[in-house]
Amino acid sequence: MSFVQPPLPYDLKDLAPFVSEEQMMFHYGKHHAAYFTNLNGLVDGKPESELPLRKLVIEAPAGPVFNNAAQAWNHSFFWHCMSPGGGKAPSGEIASMIERDFGGFDKFKEQFSTAAVKLFGSGWAWLALDPSGKLEIMPLGNADTPLKYGKEPLLTLDVWEHAYYIDYRNARPKFVEGFWDVINWEFVNKNLKSPF
Ligand code: MN
Repeated sequence: MSFVQPPLPYDLKDLAPFVSEEQMMFHYGKHHAAYFTNLNGLVDGKPESELPLRKLVIEAPAGPVFNNAAQAWNHSFFWHCMSPGGGKAPSGEIASMIERDFGGFDKFKEQFSTAAVKLFGSGWAWLALDPSGKLEIMPLGNADTPLKYGKEPLLTLDVWEHAYYIDYRNARPKFVEGFWDVINWEFVNKNLKSPF
């Protein structure tokens, strides 16, 4: 069995102007696709190829299998974190949790953006749920994910340069700013109930 890249939950052009169709063609069509190709090459014929991707991410030791499995999973999750009708303020349960744990949406927005902008090198800014039920902002390098720390991913932003190089060149802060216009808070709320 091999791992298959899931379809995007919208069209390549649908997140414009936050990210252009060309940017998505490269990010989804080349970078994300390559992690699946690489992963399948690494696990071909091995027992790991039979695991659900999420389980493989949790169980794989540091190394190429983990890197490619986690990058495959992280991106599939990331596409759902955005929606053409997204943005605005959070609603539902996540809104009250943000209020409780960060003292308001504006403070959360500032802390998450700072974490995303300051993350050194390549990586992901995550909002995760601690087993105690508390929200946590986790800036993690390369392919690293809250799943490795027993925490549930709720929201993520890819800050690898390949996520924004076509539209924003080197300007990560502008890319991070635009993310707030497309966040799919329904998906974030859904992750509180049923893990992706
Ligand atoms: Mn990426």
